[in-house]
Parts: sequence; structure tokens; C-alpha cells
Amino acid sequence: MIEQSSDDEEFLRLREDILSCERCSLRQEAHGVVFGEGDSHNPPLVFIGEGPGEEEDRLLRPFVGPAGRLLDKMLYAAGFDRFHGVYILNVVKCRPPFNRTPTQEERRACWPHLTAQLRYLSPRIVVLLGATAMQTLLGISSLSAARGRWHERGGVFFLATYHPAALLRNPQWKVKAWDDLKKIVDKYRECINPDHEAPFYRKQN
Ligand code: SF4
Repeated sequence: MIEQSSDDEEFLRLREDILSCERCSLRQEAHGVVFGEGDSHNPPLVFIGEGPGEEEDRLLRPFVGPAGRLLDKMLYAAGFDRFHGVYILNVVKCRPPFNRTPTQEERRACWPHLTAQLRYLSPRIVVLLGATAMQTLLGISSLSAARGRWHERGGVFFLATYHPAALLRNPQWKVKAWDDLKKIVDKYRECINPDHEAPFYRKQN
């Protein structure tokens, strides 16, 4: 498993705590707990999906199946990569059977893990991939109403967009997803690095 090394004790404790969790029944059918991965040293940008799929459950890494490959391409186009300044998480850490949407109860059970991760990572920008992440983090249920808009909570900027798996099923949404990605680059340039280079979204002078 590829993981940015961290010698931070708090992070290692958090990791151990989450990896040994059996707080809900999702753990019984999953191969293991998918903690998340990326740059754990104060990444300015965090992406949050719904939960592990089949490949993720097998490899115990987030976003490594077809949707993950699309996410990596999107990150590249925007000048990011999952191991530098970015961390990738899911709302639930164990795979829901047959990739069903995690229930409210399962999300509630996993919520302390997600909040502990976010507290530790302390990102400035959080991208919510799909309706489940948006509902869980922002309490908003309509993705079509809230997608592509910034929501500020305690100094952190949240933006909800389509889950890459939804984009694979609905390629006609990719244009809107690209617009969202450009907003993320704009916010990154505004808050983190004005000189950020994005291969497919050059800065206008
Ligand atoms: S989904 Fe979350 S709460 Fe449920 S067992 Fe896995 S890590 Fe624990």
C-alpha cells in the first residue's frame, strides 16, 4: 500500500484506532478498513467520497478502481496529485455490500472517524464527491441544488460535485464536473497558492 509516511504519533494512533474498528456491521463483510491515503502533513485539499468499492476493499486503498482512475485524471488536469497536498477519504471506511449507499446508522457510526481525520488533516478546502458525502458533511440533500457552490463552515470551504463513479455512468455530466474542478483550482489559487499550475486550466494574466 502506498501511503505518505508520517512519523506523527497522533496520526499513527488515529490510524490504528480506525483500522481496528468494528463499530458497525459493515466490517463483517468487508475485507478490511480503508483508512484513506495521501499527504497527511497538513494537506490544503481533501476529497471525500462515499465508501470503498470492490477494488478499494480488495486493496484497502481509496479510489483505486475505475472511478479512482478517473479521479486521478481529474486531479492531474487540475495540477494536483493524491500524494502531494491532497488527502482522500470516504464517509464510511468499510465497503457496503454490493456497493449500496451506506445507511444513516452506518454513517453515524463512522462519523467520529471522519471528524477525527478532518481535525487532524485540517484542510482549507474540502471537495465532497457525490450526494452521500454532501449530505453527511453539509446536511444538504439535493446534489443538483447544491453542486458547484462554495459552502463555508468555520473557515473551511466545501464544494460538492459529482462522484467519479456517477460520471462514468453519466458522461454527459463531465462538462459540469470540469466547471466544478476549475472552481476548485480558482479557490486553491485564491487561498493556498496564487501561482498554482494546472495543465488544463492555465492562469489568466
Ligand atoms: S464502516 Fe466505519 S464504523 Fe463501521 S466498522 Fe468500518 S470503520 Fe467502523
